[in-house]
Amino acid sequence: MKSYEFELTDDVMEKINRFTRKPVTKERVYAFPLVLCDNETDRDGERFDVSALEKLRDLFVGKTGIFDHDPKGTAQTARIFDTFIDRPEGRRTSYGEDYVCLAARAYMVRTDRNIALIDEIDAGIKKEVSISCSVSKKLCSVCGCDVYKNPCSHIKGRSYGERVCAHVLHDPRDAYEWSFVAVPAQINAGVKKTFGGDETPTSVPPQDKQLQNEHYDMLTLLKARVGALYELSGSSAVCCKALIDKLSVAELIKLEKTLSAALTKPTKPRTEALREANEKYKTNDFN
Ligand SMILES: [Zn+2]
Repeated sequence: MKSYEFELTDDVMEKINRFTRKPVTKERVYAFPLVLCDNETDRDGERFDVSALEKLRDLFVGKTGIFDHDPKGTAQTARIFDTFIDRPEGRRTSYGEDYVCLAARAYMVRTDRNIALIDEIDAGIKKEVSISCSVSKKLCSVCGCDVYKNPCSHIKGRSYGERVCAHVLHDPRDAYEWSFVAVPAQINAGVKKTFGGDETPTSVPPQDKQLQNEHYDMLTLLKARVGALYELSGSSAVCCKALIDKLSVAELIKLEKTLSAALTKPTKPRTEALREANEKYKTNDFN
């Protein structure tokens, strides 16, 4: 991360002050670099493609992030004021392509409450970043199919010849937020992407592995199906991975049933449905 360090020059202050109600001075601002995401496969078996990173570069400017570790519940926030794509010389991903990451600069206004947090960031303790966004397509890295629309038989994390199947996140629609989570740094300079989920990696006894794999496969299929149904339902909310990933298995099954039922039911002409809704509204007393 050291290479991303920067000074509070006039140019930088100008960028920061685009996001403040009143101009702030250098003395009142604390700014720091972070890596939001990259094209390395993460522990969920997913990765962004480079075009997705480029799109997220624009989407994340101005987005607020949260430090969600504070036991007192007084969450501190910071805001991204600048983003850039970096291609560190000679670095490759685990699957053999040039490594590309989306880095950002964020600021917070110094207060009595965030002194300790600033010390921690300076000391390099807060490193893991999780991001939340929606993508319109997830592509299988083995066969290239859109796993929302045409789920294939390839399973994330499994090897097919030379290749390990991953889901490639393509065409981000929106970026919601980012957060620092209090998890010790590990891969990729301690930075990983999630979609707001906070899974903690657990070690599994070997005898449970088989069962876990089967569950995982079923869950993957269920999520793909719900995603596909979402799209079929024509809801303008493009399959929102953030939502699907947050649901429990029971909730996913329920949603799957609801969506299936809605899709198989003959739909009334839109105008008639609207008129009906209007009538209902009139007869209800909302006071
Ligand atoms: Zn596939």
